[in-house]
Amino acid sequence: MEAQHQLPQIELGATGFTVSRLGLGGFHQVEISSEIVDQVVTAFIEVGGTYIETARSYGRGASEDKLGRVLAGRRDGIVLASKSGARDADGIRRDLDASLKALRTDHIEFYFFHGVNTLQELDSIIGPDGAMTGLLKAREEGLITGLGFSSHRPPLLYLEAIRRLPLSVILIWDNYLEEQYVPEIQREVYPLAREKGVGITAMKPLADGFLYREPELALRYALGSGSEVLICGMNRVEHVQQAARALVKGPLDAEARQAALHRAPELGTYVCRQCGVCSKALMALFRLEGYVDRQMIDFLPHDPADYALRLRLANWFDLGEIARERFLEMDWDQGALQTEAATIACPYGIDVGRKAALALAKLRDDKPAYL
Ligand code: SF4
Repeated sequence: MEAQHQLPQIELGATGFTVSRLGLGGFHQVEISSEIVDQVVTAFIEVGGTYIETARSYGRGASEDKLGRVLAGRRDGIVLASKSGARDADGIRRDLDASLKALRTDHIEFYFFHGVNTLQELDSIIGPDGAMTGLLKAREEGLITGLGFSSHRPPLLYLEAIRRLPLSVILIWDNYLEEQYVPEIQREVYPLAREKGVGITAMKPLADGFLYREPELALRYALGSGSEVLICGMNRVEHVQQAARALVKGPLDAEARQAALHRAPELGTYVCRQCGVCSKALMALFRLEGYVDRQMIDFLPHDPADYALRLRLANWFDLGEIARERFLEMDWDQGALQTEAATIACPYGIDVGRKAALALAKLRDDKPAYL
């Protein structure tokens, strides 16, 4: 790609690294041959890409192994990250040793506590002989530069982790679908991370592929949401070039962001944009509905491919149980919510009365009469 199409670069928190704002995600390298991984990595480096991340668990080491093969001889200038699901010191050291071997390197810049989904897991990591001890020792030995944290659970865990762990970087999700029901990521997690000098890398800018219709819009929207690096799971050269073109254009401005929320086909006339016309209680109800199924199941007609995608992705985060627990904890006046909902004229064309009935049914785990 020509020089004017080179990826923008950014300082990653207080890590001392300057990296490309586009990162190459390792998960989708599992699906393709080493030959195609080579093409993808080559294209990524050609557009100025410098941040590559993977995990021990991706394909049980297959992603690390393929990336290690194709990075041989061009490791310089690449900031490499990998992750381990181990929560104890010995386990994470074994994983780190395996990652180093598979990636054919003697040093990994960031090694992550991967998929930490409960406070108990976080306690184990920090406790005696926990994984934190293992990684701090590895850092002393020069095997890694810094510690990272990722989770698929609500932002509270990130806030706790940033406060309690000596982190260099986090990996969190960020896109215009999830932003509608987990706004705490931008409002709370990002400011705390910046305050602590923790680098912010963000995955799922296309919401696991759900925002496939307008990838440039989704990428430029996410680029302006507060993270430093967007991690994209690109498994073909065209995806790298497409993402690079979007990032070179830069983030959407405030007006274009608002326009995107109006016209985004995936949000349509069902996903609540939290615009403030409804009461706080009603908006909270719709955020909890997002926890159940990302507001993907709307009981409206979709073409077969879109419907199959919705079914596959709706429960990806598996937050339904948490949503239903929170729903039971809160003192909802369900009748009043439905009465209010029936009176709302939503600027996004949402039938709020119908949506409230569906959201309540999902959270009570029953069905409204008309389904
Ligand atoms: S008016 Fe529509 S977008 Fe605004 S809070 Fe209510 S349902 Fe959400």
